[in-house]
Amino acid sequence: MNVLISACLLGVNCKYNGGNNKADMLEELMDKVTFIPVCPEQLGGLTTPRLPSEIKAMDGAAVLEGKANVISNKGEDVTVQFIKGAEETLRIAKLYNCEAAILKQRSPSCGSKEIYDGSFQGKVKPGLGVTAALLAKHGIKLYSEENLKELTEQLKIK
Ligand code: SF4
Repeated sequence: MNVLISACLLGVNCKYNGGNNKADMLEELMDKVTFIPVCPEQLGGLTTPRLPSEIKAMDGAAVLEGKANVISNKGEDVTVQFIKGAEETLRIAKLYNCEAAILKQRSPSCGSKEIYDGSFQGKVKPGLGVTAALLAKHGIKLYSEENLKELTEQLKIK
């Protein structure tokens, strides 16, 4: 089974500050499924390192509908790059027939339950990142590093 995954969770240094979000508990799962790593923000053409960005109002679903923007901490509008990253990620998910994705929680691209609230103060709000919203719209089941047990149960991975 192919499972799309935020590359930073595997230790790839694609995070905005040039680091990663390596989650050691993924190693066990690695023997059971094939991970397809992606970084939507890099796929959208942003550099690494890059300025941190957050969704100002609402969430990624609203960004896809043209009702909200993604803004860097210096005020630069990066909505176009975030949408492109989401579309390229969806292309890869379809190419590899991924039914599910494990995405880094709270990221403005990858958050599947909550995201940073746009204040750049580490506060979160409920909602989806831009890529998470597009993948969900196309029927891909979303998980994060915080609910891997749910994934193994629901997808019957042994
Ligand atoms: Fe990780 Fe997603 Fe952020 Fe890329 S866009 S660094 S994969 S959380």
